[in-house]
Amino acid sequence: MKNIVLFGPPGAGKGTQAEFLKTKYDLIHISTGDVFRYNIKNETELGLLAKSFMDKGNLVPDEVTIDMLKAEVNRNAAANGFIFDGFPRTESQAKSLDIFLAKKNTGIDGMIALEVPENLLVERLLNRGKTSGRSDDQDESKIRNRFNEYESKTAILKNYYQNQDKYFGVDGVGSIEDITAKLEKVIDKLSKSAK
Ligand code: AMP
Repeated sequence: MKNIVLFGPPGAGKGTQAEFLKTKYDLIHISTGDVFRYNIKNETELGLLAKSFMDKGNLVPDEVTIDMLKAEVNRNAAANGFIFDGFPRTESQAKSLDIFLAKKNTGIDGMIALEVPENLLVERLLNRGKTSGRSDDQDESKIRNRFNEYESKTAILKNYYQNQDKYFGVDGVGSIEDITAKLEKVIDKLSKSAK
C-alpha cells in the first residue's frame, strides 16, 4: 500500500497534480475540500456546518474533518493506497491520521510539498475563481485569510513529517507536465525504498 500526502498552500496545484498521479499509481484521491463542497452542494448537515467556515476562508474544525476523512478511507477499504490532498492541515489531524493508518497496519510513505511563492498563488487563485465558481477563490481578503490559516496551523506540518524523514519538497513553479514529472520521481524513489 502507498499513501502520499500532497501538501502545499492554497493554489499550489495539489488537485491538478493528484488527478494525474492517481491514474498512474492506481491510488484513491481524497480531497477534503472536494468532499466538503460535495456536501455543501447536496445540502447535507455536514455541508451546512462546513460552509460557515469555508465561506470565510477558515479551517473546518478538526473533529468534523477527521471523522469525515476516516469515513472516506473506510469507504475505499480495498484501495491500493491514497493521495491525501488538503489533509492533514493541522498537527492534530496529522496525529489522528498516523494513529488511524497504524491500526490498519499501514502509514504515510511521504509528504510531497509543492513549493510556490505567495504572489503567484494569489494570481492563480483569482484566475481559478473566474471559472471554478468558488467564492473563496474570488475575494482577495478570503484568499489572504486562507494563507493566514495555512501559515498559522498548517505550515508546521513540514516539521512533523521532516521529523519522520518523510518530507519531500518539489518546486511547484513551471508547466503542469514538468511538475508531474518531478512528483513522479519522488514517488518512484519512495516505491523503490519500500521494496
Ligand atoms: P481546498 O479545496 O483544499 O482549498 O479547501 C477549501 C476549504 O475547505 C478550506 O479553506 C477549509 O475551509 C476547508 N478544508 C479543506 N480541507 C480541510 C482540512 N483538512 N481541515 C480543515 N478544513 C479543511
